[in-house]
Amino acid sequence: MALIVQKFGGTSVGNTDRIKNVARRVAAYRTKGDQLVVVVSAMSGVTDGLIKLSREITSLPSEREMDMLLATGEQQTIALTAIALHAQGIPAVSLTGAQAGIVTDGVHTKAKIQNITPNEVHKFLNDGNVVIVAGFQGQTPEGHITTLGRGGSDLTAIALAAALKADLCQIYTDVDGVYTADPRIVPNARKLDEVAYDEMLELAGAGAKVMQLRSVEFAKKFGVVFEVRSSMNDNPGTIVKEETKSMEGVVVRGVSLDKNQAKVTLVGVPDKPGVAARVFNALADGAINVDMIVQNVSHGSGTPATDLSFTVDKPDLLKATKVIEGLKGEIGYREVSADENIGKLSIVGVGMRSHSGVAAKMFATLATEGVNIDMISTSEIKISVVIDLAKGEHAMRAVHAAFIA
Ligand code: ADP
Ligand code: ASP
Ligand code: MG
Repeated sequence: MALIVQKFGGTSVGNTDRIKNVARRVAAYRTKGDQLVVVVSAMSGVTDGLIKLSREITSLPSEREMDMLLATGEQQTIALTAIALHAQGIPAVSLTGAQAGIVTDGVHTKAKIQNITPNEVHKFLNDGNVVIVAGFQGQTPEGHITTLGRGGSDLTAIALAAALKADLCQIYTDVDGVYTADPRIVPNARKLDEVAYDEMLELAGAGAKVMQLRSVEFAKKFGVVFEVRSSMNDNPGTIVKEETKSMEGVVVRGVSLDKNQAKVTLVGVPDKPGVAARVFNALADGAINVDMIVQNVSHGSGTPATDLSFTVDKPDLLKATKVIEGLKGEIGYREVSADENIGKLSIVGVGMRSHSGVAAKMFATLATEGVNIDMISTSEIKISVVIDLAKGEHAMRAVHAAFIA
């Protein structure tokens, strides 16, 4: 008898027919004698719909209340999934994140899991139930509801698989697995049989939303091997696991495009010690994640001035500009500007460590397509560029063609 954690994303539970389909799949595993913990997301569109409602009231709602609001999406689906299993004669119990013992810190809207005490999960499993857990949510030690960041049901599934020492962790979604690029943008992208944690980390960090970044970090840290596969068919998916020697043979495993970034530029910042520390400390205090940073060569006489640009997630843009405006008196920059029309294009592969000329080939491909590069950042296994959003998808297809197919 195996203990299996299965996670079904928003599209896979997008309507009641799909929820019945999920229940049939779960029932088939259970009939084989497996114990099942099923993590579900909100039905597709529900989380976005709730965010939209709050924005009709204010552009900067309280983050605590946003968590209270958004957690209701997953609560609908756990109950509907349990009801669908009951209709098939399968005993099932739904649990909120808090009831499943998921304890987080108090950083609302992007809380981190601190520990999981899954006593209730064990109890209901031992009584012969399928246990359905609400993805994306937890609670603080004081009992306040939190959420784990967009796409956070992936994290719930992986963290539960680790805490329960599950034999198998399956992430069911609306594509057959992890592809060399988003198949909706690059039609000839190929499904990968396996991906190393580090590659999946970089791909997720670069905008491949097939797996939430933090869920992959967690999987790597606790060695949770997982499979990404389709809830619509029985095709084998993609196994995400520790790197093996043979993976180095491929230079570029995948290409990602992140359309969810925005750029903030501080123009005319005094170029003196402590300024960057002050800016990025203030952003960190606001729990704003900064991705790329570029500082120009300074210009002017007296205290020279420079321009400082950085990127943040689009939903954090308003908060970030507010933080920067709050520093104006203290730092004395000339002006601040924000640009939402950017895309971050990245290529990723562990094989880059042992191959040279990869960046040059990427830049040459972009040049041939007339795409200007605004910012560049690299890691050992990734090269990212910020480009004009309008050219993003075209550039992605060109770079995919140059390196993969
Ligand atoms: P779920 O609701 O199941 O969590 P998501 O919408 O979060 O699903 O993630 C699945 C989507 O991720 C796919 O529909 C696909 O468009 C997108 N995607 C982006 N990059 C990739 C990639 N490299 N491989 C597969 N899917 C990708
Ligand atoms: N419902 C949440 C979201 O849309 C969490 C998830 O789907 O994983 O981000
Ligand atoms: Mg997702």
